[in-house]
Amino acid sequence: MDYTIAVLAGDGIGPEVTAEALKVLAAVGERFGHRFATQQGLIGGIAIDSTGSALPEETVALCKSSDAVLLGAVGGPKWDNPDANVRPEQGLLGIRKALGLYANLRPVSIHPALIDSSPLKADRLAGVDMLVVRELTGGSYFGEKRRERGERGEWASDLCIYHQHEIERIVRAAGELARGRRKKLTLVDKANVMETSRLWRSLTTRIVKEEFADLSFDVMLVDACAMHLIRRPADFDVIVTENMFGDILTDEASMLAGSMGMLPSASLGTGKMGLYEPIHGSAPDIAGQGKANPLATILSSAMLLRHSLGLEEAARAIESAVYATVEAGIVTGDIAKPGQTPVGTSVVGDAVVARLAM
Ligand code: NAD
Repeated sequence: MDYTIAVLAGDGIGPEVTAEALKVLAAVGERFGHRFATQQGLIGGIAIDSTGSALPEETVALCKSSDAVLLGAVGGPKWDNPDANVRPEQGLLGIRKALGLYANLRPVSIHPALIDSSPLKADRLAGVDMLVVRELTGGSYFGEKRRERGERGEWASDLCIYHQHEIERIVRAAGELARGRRKKLTLVDKANVMETSRLWRSLTTRIVKEEFADLSFDVMLVDACAMHLIRRPADFDVIVTENMFGDILTDEASMLAGSMGMLPSASLGTGKMGLYEPIHGSAPDIAGQGKANPLATILSSAMLLRHSLGLEEAARAIESAVYATVEAGIVTGDIAKPGQTPVGTSVVGDAVVARLAM
């Protein structure tokens, strides 16, 4: 089968890690008889430099005409001025909106070979296998923003707003995902102080009762969740939560796995189209040095095959090849254990490709 994939490499280590994912996609295509036609588009800082916009029209058109999108990362010190009118993150927010993507899936599991890379004690990590489903289009990141000067100096506000349909669609998506896993759903909110959270809680409780009675369901305040993610992470299965809570909790959860360089993500809407990217940023501190861990992006390409193209067997083959590479100790510095010699980005990519051919 032939599929088209738009590739938005972006800034910093984005081009380095997406290049490795593309090698892996070509290899898995070869093994299973699929052809992935890939086409590069501009996004983020590099797009600002060449077109003046963080998300040129051509990029949106390219993505819309593709089966799925693979993204590296955007941003960097060159474009860091928060007062600038055009900023790299506008590309990210813009493409999610243009493609109607509202559910961000971030799986966190820990391969036994990586337990020592985590700052947590090994006994806390056994059995960790969770999926955080973060709402992507609402909340304070998208509500009205104001900054003014009053009699007592400056003031600012970010309106946190959620509509019923935004909550219902993501709760249903999370419920379906929980059904395919260990059948446990946790809503994370701040219903003791926030009205938006109270709306989330009442709608979620009703939907679970009416449509997902087969799931075990609980609610947790976000501050308690931050604590339990460290205290008893293996107890979580599927977490569903609003945009900002999800943003913060998933970075925290990433440390369970030892490095942000290991964690993939998928952003999905109602159809098959999705955008797949590592959870990390453009890592300007290591960009251009061949040190970046490409595995989060390679695992994102596996999610792409699974969720957008329906190629489960090929997705699993990539995941197995990634874990075999880690088990063989062919790893970058972020996950190397004491005594292991770190290798470069492309050596890791080549090792995954070699294991796909085995
Ligand atoms: P970051 O994720 O880029 O880096 C945080 C730390 O993790 C750094 O020390 C970095 O070297 C390390 N790291 C990240 N990815 C790694 C990998 N694959 N391999 C090895 N080490 C890795 O976060 P930051 O430093 O806060 O942000 C840098 C830039 O990225 C900023 O401009 C920020 O706005 C942007 N950013 C973009 C995205 C995105 O594109 N989705 C997400 C977060 C941050």
